[in-house]
Amino acid sequence: YDGQEKNEEKKLFGQWAPRAPLKIDTVIEFAGRTWLLVWQGNRKFLDGPREKVAYWVGGGVLGMAIFLAIIFEMMATRTRLVENQVITRTEQLTRSNEKLTSEITARARAEKEMLAAKEEAELANRAKSTFLANMSHEIRTPMNAILGYAQILGRDKSLGKGQHVNVEKILNSGDHLLQIINDILDISKIEAGRMEVHPDDFDLNLLVKDLDGMFRIRCQQKNLLLKVTGLGKSSHPVFGDEGKLRRILINILGNAVKFTDSGEIGFRVSAEGADRYLFEVTDTGVGILPESQKKILEPFTQDLEGMKKGGTGLGLAICAKQIELMGGELSIDSESGKGARFYFSMNLPPAHGEVKARDQRDGVVSRLAPGCHVKALVVEDNPLNRDVLSKILKDVGVQVEESENGQEALEKLSQFSPDIIFTDMNMPVMDGPQLIRAIEQEYGKERFKIIAVSAAVLKHEQKKFLSCGCHGFIGKPFRFDTIFTCLEDHLNVKFEYEEVVKDTSAEKKTIDYSQVHLPADTLAQLKKAAKFGQISEMEKQDSVAPELVQHLKAFADKFQLGALQKALDQIKP
Ligand code: ADP
Repeated sequence: YDGQEKNEEKKLFGQWAPRAPLKIDTVIEFAGRTWLLVWQGNRKFLDGPREKVAYWVGGGVLGMAIFLAIIFEMMATRTRLVENQVITRTEQLTRSNEKLTSEITARARAEKEMLAAKEEAELANRAKSTFLANMSHEIRTPMNAILGYAQILGRDKSLGKGQHVNVEKILNSGDHLLQIINDILDISKIEAGRMEVHPDDFDLNLLVKDLDGMFRIRCQQKNLLLKVTGLGKSSHPVFGDEGKLRRILINILGNAVKFTDSGEIGFRVSAEGADRYLFEVTDTGVGILPESQKKILEPFTQDLEGMKKGGTGLGLAICAKQIELMGGELSIDSESGKGARFYFSMNLPPAHGEVKARDQRDGVVSRLAPGCHVKALVVEDNPLNRDVLSKILKDVGVQVEESENGQEALEKLSQFSPDIIFTDMNMPVMDGPQLIRAIEQEYGKERFKIIAVSAAVLKHEQKKFLSCGCHGFIGKPFRFDTIFTCLEDHLNVKFEYEEVVKDTSAEKKTIDYSQVHLPADTLAQLKKAAKFGQISEMEKQDSVAPELVQHLKAFADKFQLGALQKALDQIKP
């Protein structure tokens, strides 16, 4: 109301409710005037808070609050859970971190130890290689004397047939021993990764022919048939490591003959594609169990049959590695009791130049051809080896002077004036390389032909000798043929030859034992004698033809007692 009275005319706004249970009048002053403000509350207003809506709203707010509380509690629980998990994980992480740290430390320690062990092993390996090289050197030096004197003895015409056979046996056994030493050196070279290929031009067909000649006799001695299939009659020049290929084939063919008592040996070389050749060796021998086939390619492994027949178990391991080195793989097909087939293929590109035909010697060197004069100086500190070389040179008509060391040799040069000097490399006072340098300074490079003679077989040692100025190299133990070839190559001299009269009657003919008949008691006695390897007893049997005795003795001489028994089993009483 405008003013203080409740006058209808002065009412500005609102509605008068005469029965309103609540009424409040307030006079206020505002904007310089007096106003009456009447506030009325009805029953509804008075009941206000107790009304349903209020309960709903209250309930709703409470529900909301509870809901929010639950949510917050859940979130808090979850947070606590996560916090706990984080704490657990952190602890786990710390623990595994500590473990890892200790593992890293342990690993670092192990690595250090491993490195030390590796160094130790390498040191031991180097020591082994040095030991093997030294051992090989030490064995070769006395072997040179043994084989040298045996060769000198073999040239002695006053010896009887039996003595010649014995000398031949000394030479064969010496060769066998050398082969074992070479195998051990080779396997250690392979293990050290130092085996190298030395390719050159060679005639593949000539190699096949050589092997044919070498194994034909061995097969005849065991009454085995040898079938060789080469690449035709003409020469077949290729480029490859002939030495290694020859040794591989000799080894595989040798095994085939060794493990076959009856039947045949096959050797076949065929072209497989452009410049690729397949080499196969088959036999009808004892065969190899499937589980042994992989194993026998490892060093020092043999199967039961191999152990019975002896050997080192190194041959095939070396072959397999050498074939691998030349880009092939050695494979075996075999069934126990049904023979074996060893085969591999390798690339042999055409030869770069013309392959020089090898001079075929008709017989053994007897002496220098008329008109040829040679003066040789032998420089060597070992008296036996000096004597061997001097004797063989003198034997063919060479005029020889000897010196114990380089210094002595140097003093002899001016008055003796040799055409060729054979010098050992390791000598006291003045060694080989020092002597060569001294000669070069005083006389120049071409005045004398200088040949290094050494028991060192490692290629890098030989290269070292050649690089210090000598014209050629001869390894110990030397073959006399090598010395004669050396004289021919360096001095342009010729030799006279004499034919070797060999007792080949037993080798030439093979015997079909199933066609031989003997008195039953003689056969029984022979079998008894053979059991104990006493074949000389057989010679006393009048009813046994000498030729048959010779054949049977050949088995005994080679300790092939199994083959001997088999042969006797075929003979009919
Ligand atoms: P070695 O003959 O000196 O023992 P190798 O390495 O040449 O060594 O041969 C290993 C083994 O493989 C032999 O001992 C033998 O057991 C087996 N073996 C090799 N060639 C043949 C073969 N042609 N027939 C049957 N067994 C063979």
